[in-house]
Amino acid sequence: MNTGLYVVATPIGNLQDLSARAVEVLGQVDLIAAEDTRHTQRLLQHNGLSSTLVAYHDHSDARVLQRLCEHIANNGSVALVTDAGTPLISDPGYRLVRAVQNAGFAVTPIPGPCAAIAALSASGLATDRFVFEGFLPAKPAARASRLAELSDTAATMIFYESPHRVLGTLAAMVSVFGAEREAVFARELTKTFETIKRASLQSLHSLVTQDSNQRKGEIVLLIAGAQPSSSTISRDVASLLERLAEELPAKTVAAVVAEHTGLRKKVLYEFLLSRKSL
Ligand code: SAM
Repeated sequence: MNTGLYVVATPIGNLQDLSARAVEVLGQVDLIAAEDTRHTQRLLQHNGLSSTLVAYHDHSDARVLQRLCEHIANNGSVALVTDAGTPLISDPGYRLVRAVQNAGFAVTPIPGPCAAIAALSASGLATDRFVFEGFLPAKPAARASRLAELSDTAATMIFYESPHRVLGTLAAMVSVFGAEREAVFARELTKTFETIKRASLQSLHSLVTQDSNQRKGEIVLLIAGAQPSSSTISRDVASLLERLAEELPAKTVAAVVAEHTGLRKKVLYEFLLSRKSL
């Protein structure tokens, strides 16, 4: 096993999702730094592995981090795992990865499950641009401020949420993003009660209000990006559209300007049509 740190993704529910490469690395490293050693012990047992575990958290005593770095400096190999999914994604590991890199040693990802990416891939929302927001602040006022900051975000937004806060968060999202904003509720991914529902924020809020089972387990919320409307077309873009439309068909103008501004072609085309019908 090469010296260094291996950042190993583990299942988010279904144990079959541990990759063959992850099993190989977890079986060969000298040490596994785990968020919860008892939890990881069960994963190792399930795969017939008996590697040595060390508890590691970003708030662990600095001596733990130092010991892990020293171990690597002495030609050792360490795997970093968390309870579920990809380490560092709303999970511990940031300080360790930086410390190992700063000491001049290799950090190798062993990719695999991640709830955010799994949810996005099956959401039916746009995937060309997305932002991962992780957990919102727990306090309602701070949560509302954070959501307000995001209300014009054009990319798909991904949030992690705990079951006891999900209803309040959906209500806050309805008031900030609007009842009709499209969203996806992804719960218990890869597990028996997996639920993936795409609907308006209002419908999702009703679903979670009416069915208390939807307030159990692990949840990812995804929100469609804000749609640019004709009112978001700046004066510069409007005059460019009008000038080009004197020479070219509206569809071509919309396509060219969309390509250069990132605005939606359909919105630009509709803007041109609305100018014509005036
Ligand atoms: N590192 C993990 C990853 O790669 O997804 C995330 C860890 S974070 C502490 C835990 C949160 O991830 C949960 O509260 C939930 O929002 C989300 N999550 C984890 N597993 C999930 C699953 N099976 N289904 C839906 N969401 C999940």
